[in-house]
Amino acid sequence: MDYISTRGKVEAIGFVDAVLMGLANDGGLLVPSLIPSVSADTLNQWEKLSYSELALEIFTLFVDGDIPREDLKKLVDDSYATFRDPEVTPVRRLNDSLSVLELFHGPTFAFKDIALQFLGNLYSYISRKNNSIIHILGATSGDTGASAIEGVRGKEGIRICILHPHGKVSKVQELQMTTVNDANVLNLSVEGNFDDCQRIIKELFADVDFKHRYHLRAINSINIARILAQTVYYFYAYFQAAKGDPAAKVNFSVPTGNFGDIFAGYLAKRMGLPVNKLILATNENNILERFVREGVYEPGEFHMTYSPSMDIQVASNFERYLYYLYGEDSQAISALMDGFKKDGRIVIPEDKLRTVQADFGAYGVKNDECLATIGSYHKENGYLLDPHTACGVAAADKLAEAGEVTVALSTAHPAKFDEAIRLIDIEQTYPAPIQALFNKPQIQKVVGGSNEEITEQLLSFF
Ligand SMILES: *Cc1c(COP(=O)(O)O)cnc(C)c1O
Repeated sequence: MDYISTRGKVEAIGFVDAVLMGLANDGGLLVPSLIPSVSADTLNQWEKLSYSELALEIFTLFVDGDIPREDLKKLVDDSYATFRDPEVTPVRRLNDSLSVLELFHGPTFAFKDIALQFLGNLYSYISRKNNSIIHILGATSGDTGASAIEGVRGKEGIRICILHPHGKVSKVQELQMTTVNDANVLNLSVEGNFDDCQRIIKELFADVDFKHRYHLRAINSINIARILAQTVYYFYAYFQAAKGDPAAKVNFSVPTGNFGDIFAGYLAKRMGLPVNKLILATNENNILERFVREGVYEPGEFHMTYSPSMDIQVASNFERYLYYLYGEDSQAISALMDGFKKDGRIVIPEDKLRTVQADFGAYGVKNDECLATIGSYHKENGYLLDPHTACGVAAADKLAEAGEVTVALSTAHPAKFDEAIRLIDIEQTYPAPIQALFNKPQIQKVVGGSNEEITEQLLSFF
């Protein structure tokens, strides 16, 4: 399988090179040159597979010989052996029309582990094969950082530096990142918000000289390996929700920030998984909801919410979807993205908007609605939702229709966001691995938000 850039100015490369490149050298995002299509027969066979077996089949389609199958199998098996649930991503039924797909059974209790356990092992494998050091640089609104660090801590041949917005991640997220004392980990706590962190990373990666000199590698959700790892659970959950009924109408409702997770669902659908509706749930930072409703993509005012991992204005994976919306026309995408840089907005024509609305439903959840959803599901179903998941569930309740079954993606364990849970007077007991974090010393550097300051820190760490 070849990978190409949404902006068309990168020569086709294989899977491993695409993983290493992260952001495409022309500023675009890497996509497979052809989306593999999965037949109904193959889907029938996949229905019986375990999570790891299914992951191996799906990766095989996208890796296509770039990594020998037995090595790929070991990478996949090692990555999902760290999960606490034997099913890896179990589906829990809440009522006749709604289930939650629990994606939080990995080491850091958030769905990012599914992709980053794999990516961490993959980087380590590549570093051994190429006999070279890999420097990972990433920005986080909380979950990515913890998960990325957990994926590579202590691994030889890898150093990782993570930027997070100072004081704007939850206590548990901060502890998960900063209590790691491995020498290959650097935490920078940046005075600013997540969009500032993300902008710094984007600009440092755009400096191709710098990127090459230090073998800089990305961990954020623009990395194609992360998207591919996330397609697996759409297949896995679909099989459980549809229960072998080919006429079943299975929706997915996805708490969305950078558009990585829901893009994986879109990709699964394009591969042939008969998904009914993809529901895009946002919080009050609702640029994507407005795009789906009005066809205008324009950052709004920044809101702090109870679901900080979705407090995002510019969704870094969105360009991948635009690429398919515009019929894989990289010239059109280059023009659109240039226009976005200049005018700060993208407006799509009416016919494209109709396609968008056929691809997605969208709903932005207000802060009080998020808490109310947590409260009512706790009371009526005895199930505690985290605030991100609650956005997905609230959107499902709004947009799913009679006769449909909706799988809401549960992207984090509620223990990670106790600040919000406590506001509605629910007391929870932390799982033991989270409780243990409170007794460990924290290691981090607080820095200003200029590129120079960050570069200086990086140079002394590398
Ligand atoms: C990252 C994250 C999201 C958003 O996922 P995207 O791929 O950025 O859209 C939602 N919920 C939680 C808990 C997250 O960590």
